[in-house]
Amino acid sequence: MDRQKPRLATLKPHIQSLGTSATLAINEHMHALIRQGKEVFKLGFGQSPFPVPESVVHALQDHAHEKGYLPVRGLDTLREMVAQYYKQRMNLNADASQVIIGPGSKELIYIAILCLEGDLILPAPSWVSYAPQAQLSQKKVHWIDTSGNPQLLLTADLLEKFCQAHPKKQGTLLLNYPSNPAGSTYSSTQLQAIARIARQYGIVVISDEIYGELNHSGNHDTLARYYPEGTIISSGLSKWCGAGGWRLGTFLIPKTMHGLLDAMAIVASETYTSASSPIQYAAVKAFDFDDYIAEYVHQSRRVLKIVAQYAYDNLSDAYLTMPEPIGGFYLFPDFEFYRAVLGKRNIKTSVEFCQRLLEETGVALLPGTAFGHTHSRLTARLAYVDFDGAAALQYAIEKERELNKEDIEILVPNVKAACERIISWLL
Ligand code: PMP
Ligand code: GLU
Repeated sequence: MDRQKPRLATLKPHIQSLGTSATLAINEHMHALIRQGKEVFKLGFGQSPFPVPESVVHALQDHAHEKGYLPVRGLDTLREMVAQYYKQRMNLNADASQVIIGPGSKELIYIAILCLEGDLILPAPSWVSYAPQAQLSQKKVHWIDTSGNPQLLLTADLLEKFCQAHPKKQGTLLLNYPSNPAGSTYSSTQLQAIARIARQYGIVVISDEIYGELNHSGNHDTLARYYPEGTIISSGLSKWCGAGGWRLGTFLIPKTMHGLLDAMAIVASETYTSASSPIQYAAVKAFDFDDYIAEYVHQSRRVLKIVAQYAYDNLSDAYLTMPEPIGGFYLFPDFEFYRAVLGKRNIKTSVEFCQRLLEETGVALLPGTAFGHTHSRLTARLAYVDFDGAAALQYAIEKERELNKEDIEILVPNVKAACERIISWLL
């Protein structure tokens, strides 16, 4: 009998249309090129260059034998420590019942998006994974273009205009600051203005503050101070503690939204169960934020600040425009000035730009499209993290004076060479 073979594993269309996350794809591509013997400047992937603080590594070693599953919401002592951290460092009114621990904040953000009713509101540019996560949850995304603001950040005015244009929509706003990719952040005044609009229109804000401790001047402020009832703070160990691969994320959820925390814990209980036990024990040490950790973070900021300033000054002198770096480890240059020159080389989109730049100079960046910019906008994200973080920290500790441009060659030779290559390739 001529029976058609049944088709195995047909994918749902909304899953099928997704690709590997742009950040992880570029990371794997960069390493594949290196294995082939190519010279690559790894400015495509945003991973902390600094080692995990020794005391936290020791805490992990001391708890390697912890083998049991932990409570779904996280280890009690860790949840208490995270609440304590927010009380002491951010002056917030937090307690352990508001904390949930997950295997990376990325997972927690995904679960929150999954659980929350309504659409997702994203400033463009925004981090690469938010929109695909919404797509996984079949949630509609509204992009708010921030191009009119030199910092490429959302303004209260833009948010208000959006809310007025969509009066019946219930929405969740994802606000990330210091920003990946823009490198800029909100002032307290800007946060207050956004808080006023969010409160007026009943918008839930997931405030992704994973780079908060890496505000280069140490002056991070949080929306939760001005909009406590509507702000969820997302963070974790990946950036300020250099432990991306450890996969530990935290959410601090206002008591007004305890239903969301309960729902997230239910999803967690049916999916990942609990974050890794030894990592949670080690995280207690990190969130304790003792003098040793504070010094580590302080020195990390000193290094990031001078590297950011160096790259920003050089690229700006070559007529690239971008927000001034305030925190984190990214710049988001606009190559518009070179549109005609690039057009002659048949480069018309940010994807073509990044491909050709990588092929012809070895410098890996991520195209602006990954962050919600249209194809024709010649923007790209540069992560200034291709350097030996352990050596840079040691150097910074030994130099008691202010770090300056003379230190760049020793601190970050690859970042320096990459900036030079980008500029000479453009000219
Ligand atoms: N938010 C932003 C803005 C990020 O850059 C990242 C990348 N690590 C994450 C969230 C997710 O971090 P993690 O899952 O490692 O906590
Ligand atoms: N957050 C990092 C980046 O933006 C990468 C890690 C990830 O995407 O999970 O490059």
